[in-house]
Amino acid sequence: MPGTNLTRDEAATRASLLDVTSYTVDLDLTSATDPDQGTFASVTTLEFTCREPGSATFADLVAPTVREITLNGRSLDPATAYADSRIALDDLEATNTLVVTADCAYSNTGEGLHRFVDPADDRVYLYSQFEVPDARRVFTTFEQPDLKSVFTFNVTAPSHWVVVSNAATPEPTDAGQSGVSVWNFPTTKRMSTYITAIVAGEYHGEFDTYEGKFGTIPLGHYCRQSLKEHMDTAELVTLTKQSFAFFEEQFDYPYPFGKYDQLYVPEYNAGAMENAGCVTLRDEYLPRSRQPRSFFEFRTSVITHEMAHMWFGDLVTMKWWDDLWLNESFAEWACYWCEANATDFTDAWTGFANARKQTGYRADQLPSTHPIAADNVDLHAVEVNFDMITYAKGASVLKQLVAWVGLEPFLEGLRAYFKEWEYGNPEFKDLLATLEKSSGRELQGWAQEWLQTAGVNTLAPAFELDADGAYTSFSVEQSAHPDWPTLRRHRLGIGLYDDNGDGRLVRREYLEIDVEGASTEVPELIGTKQPALLLLNDEDHAYAKIRLDERSLATAISALSTFEDSLPRALVWGAAWDMTRDGEMRTRDWTDLVLANIGQETDAWAVTRIPASTALAVNFYSDPAHRDELKATWESGLRELLLAAEPGSDHQLTFARSYAGAARSDAALDDLIGLLDGSFAVEGLAIDQDMRWVLITALARSGRFGDAEIDAELEVDKTISGQEQAAAARASQPTAEAKERAWAAIVDPTTPNETSREIAFSIFRFGQEDVLEPYLEKFLTAAETLVDVLGFHKASTVLEYGFPKPLGSEATLARLDEWLADNKAPKQAQRYIGEARAEIARALTNQAFDAS
Ligand SMILES: [Zn+2]
Repeated sequence: MPGTNLTRDEAATRASLLDVTSYTVDLDLTSATDPDQGTFASVTTLEFTCREPGSATFADLVAPTVREITLNGRSLDPATAYADSRIALDDLEATNTLVVTADCAYSNTGEGLHRFVDPADDRVYLYSQFEVPDARRVFTTFEQPDLKSVFTFNVTAPSHWVVVSNAATPEPTDAGQSGVSVWNFPTTKRMSTYITAIVAGEYHGEFDTYEGKFGTIPLGHYCRQSLKEHMDTAELVTLTKQSFAFFEEQFDYPYPFGKYDQLYVPEYNAGAMENAGCVTLRDEYLPRSRQPRSFFEFRTSVITHEMAHMWFGDLVTMKWWDDLWLNESFAEWACYWCEANATDFTDAWTGFANARKQTGYRADQLPSTHPIAADNVDLHAVEVNFDMITYAKGASVLKQLVAWVGLEPFLEGLRAYFKEWEYGNPEFKDLLATLEKSSGRELQGWAQEWLQTAGVNTLAPAFELDADGAYTSFSVEQSAHPDWPTLRRHRLGIGLYDDNGDGRLVRREYLEIDVEGASTEVPELIGTKQPALLLLNDEDHAYAKIRLDERSLATAISALSTFEDSLPRALVWGAAWDMTRDGEMRTRDWTDLVLANIGQETDAWAVTRIPASTALAVNFYSDPAHRDELKATWESGLRELLLAAEPGSDHQLTFARSYAGAARSDAALDDLIGLLDGSFAVEGLAIDQDMRWVLITALARSGRFGDAEIDAELEVDKTISGQEQAAAARASQPTAEAKERAWAAIVDPTTPNETSREIAFSIFRFGQEDVLEPYLEKFLTAAETLVDVLGFHKASTVLEYGFPKPLGSEATLARLDEWLADNKAPKQAQRYIGEARAEIARALTNQAFDAS
């Protein structure tokens, strides 16, 4: 078996052979403070039983050096026993003891044990990130979720450090060496390797306790010393307590892992990770500058998402990564459900519709889309299939399932499932069986059409009217993209909206129906007067694109902001955006719609997200012959919105950021300089550190600022955020030299993951096509080796976000087709380049439509 892969069949064979009794893991992390040391000592003692004595298996380990392997007292030679990240174990006994001594590597990719030195104060921080298969980068494992065990961690580290793991933190004891201590953690509950964790360093901690219906849970919140003034612990504790109260009540099962620590860690690849009782989160969630409500709404959803995993994922765990979608989809659904019902973010489902769900629709229309329930035959397949289909579409479809079976039967099934499968590894069919029992609905067919097939359906109204404007016929027409032709059953809300005489659009009537097949008659509507706006998928139970009829679209364009409720408004925004992306609404009409309505939008996510989508449309979907005109309209429209916004509001903050991004004219760039030096003040708009970087990056992108101004700002902001923002600002400059430097940093494995990410976002800008020209070929060449050179996560970020899209043209399409036909590059590279190709093709179609 080459490299670091592991197949489902191998895992099944190993699980049928073994039971793991315990892990004892001794880690010596004292080397972390020495920048010349790249490794730490790791000793694993694994006790396990074997059902067929005499047989052979293997353990997993990714380590630069394996020093010693002992199986049942017998020494195995690492030179022969250790190959391809596996330790071959032969002649097993009924009960076995494996001891492996190795030097494992610190990482800078956010995978395994990540090491970070804070430029603000030179303090050292470590944290682990193991999902999917990376616990084996820190200790010797049987790296598969269904070989659960108990773990005892013993960590040697500098005495002044904080060390946190899944079990409660013990008092450290003297290690017999000056300034060094040992933390002997108590043994954990039974869990999978991928949710174990070690977090160590000079972390700052704050403590509280939750008193709940099942007892007391100690709470810890941690961050770097240089961020402690930004940790809003009181708010975080409140959210944590609200979520615990909600989940313990709804799940009717006590939180299983004793204590609950949440650690905000640097250079984190994802949002957060559900390590049992030891959740890690990216420390950008502790903002040092003013952030809009959508930022806090999202952070709350992350906190509740990880907590939902403590039951669904950690207590009850998938057997193999085939059900990773279920793990993530459930946590996604549950986090919004909790947020809307237990926290101040009561309109969280509107935010979901405006933001998260959109990422699912987008992913589902790319050539890389796949069924939610992916066939993950091995770890490589998991990597390729772990995306917004897993999270956003999965959560949307679970939301539809809840509408299909009803919330109470769904919860009743869930409660039974937690009790039946605690500390175990069921499969999706087990959950389905439980839900069929609690709901009385047959779900195999539903699961087949929703989970085993890819693609999104489009639902459109079709009707006839009599002379008085009442419906004489009404049906919901369902269609599908020819590449993914499945038509599905949908539980669908239909809302009829009229002006209430007071200039507000209010719902006159609502009905819910089951949609099935290409056309579903709705006899309930016959004789009903046509409303000003008819909204399919009102209440947003369904996962489908919706279309508006002519009259409804006209109402939407003239009166979108007058919807009384934010959720139908979100659905109409979504429908109009879909039409724009699908080349049925001109970019200039979309831009006018946004400029006329976004100032009155009340949903935090809509305010943040819609200007970003519009910037893409203006730069990429618009008719190139009239693009400069549209850019000028967008720029001046944003300036007006900025000046009209309420002082200190989220609208003002978002419009200021968007205006900086859109600024092209001399006058607009002068405004940005004025905001920086105070000569142009907008009442209530704080020009704090993050806003300064937004302005500086915009000025660097335009060529008005160069290295000197960026360097000067970095002198003021000596933080890791400052370094990352400076790298982004440098990369954005419109010079060949800046692009060369930025590209060299992207492909350099020593560039830290978060810095690499910021550069990838910033390097290829619309309007800079003349200096980007060489990067199509450079990108295609690099794509063949990036995964090997940078590691999976860093490479994926570069491949997904670092493609030179401004070079989108027919010639680029042809070149990408040629490259893709060659079919030699790694799957991950082919996937993202296939996506870039599709996005370019879509943009070219939209440009032609916008010109027509
Ligand atoms: Zn998750």
